[in-house]
Amino acid sequence: MKIEIDQQSGFCFGVEKVIKTAEDILKKEGKVYCLGEIVHNQREMERLMSLGLITIDYETYRNMKNCKVLIRAHGEPPETYEIAEKNNIQLVDGTCPIVDRLQKKVRTGYEKTKKIDGQVVIFGKEKHAEVIGLKGQTEGKAIVISNLQELDQIDFSKPVVLYSQTTRNMNEYGELSKEIRNRINTTGNGKELIINKTICEQVASREPNIREFARKHDLVLFVSGKNSSNGKMLYQVCKEENPNSRFISAESEITKRWFYKTKSVGICGATSTPEWLMRNVAEKVKSLNEK
Ligand code: SF4
Repeated sequence: MKIEIDQQSGFCFGVEKVIKTAEDILKKEGKVYCLGEIVHNQREMERLMSLGLITIDYETYRNMKNCKVLIRAHGEPPETYEIAEKNNIQLVDGTCPIVDRLQKKVRTGYEKTKKIDGQVVIFGKEKHAEVIGLKGQTEGKAIVISNLQELDQIDFSKPVVLYSQTTRNMNEYGELSKEIRNRINTTGNGKELIINKTICEQVASREPNIREFARKHDLVLFVSGKNSSNGKMLYQVCKEENPNSRFISAESEITKRWFYKTKSVGICGATSTPEWLMRNVAEKVKSLNEK
């Protein structure tokens, strides 16, 4: 049986970078606090926790003083930096440079909308860490939309400046932008609409690649944490191309009966899936089919 690991799957540049930062601190200091889950992958979290990574929530963070805290790739709202200043917390800023640039863009866009009585709209999930960081750039005023049904929150008689969370689906963003344009043209007297292309290239390029990869194999094992939004999105893409695709979070979930009449297995994952985990999955597939 042929087993192939997708070479384009696995950590994106931002996640790889922040994990390397955490590992460097852990090597020197044996312990580091991280604000929120550093990566949406339980297995990788367990590995880092065994090295000394301690995940803290916002309530804990607010009450901490005189310590060092790592900020993950998703970025943070200004409030997090203000607390650090007040409580003498040394921040190690692991914000992905792409997210950092996007935060600055959103801030500039917000300043512009204030002058023209417009609205900043973010296509993303309200509670997603990156979106919280982005909304924070707008004094909490941005309107967050996760699908077409939520568009009624927008006042189409006012100008709109639109951004997307970096990990959203390109086609869905295209559809949403089109619908906003239609509504502005029909009900908003053609007010200004600025559409910013802010989906991360690292994510956008994975979708067409994973489509092709999924088509090539009899069975696709998509490896990801269950709480990864990028994982959910890419798995959907696999499923569309190859109905014989399975979502797994660990090699222990694999069952031998999945391989009946299977000649080729493709293993792929999200931007938060560690490469070592995909290799473990490949080993498990191999061992099950040798028996
Ligand atoms: S998906 Fe893109 S923007 Fe988000 S952390 Fe990874 S590299 Fe950065």
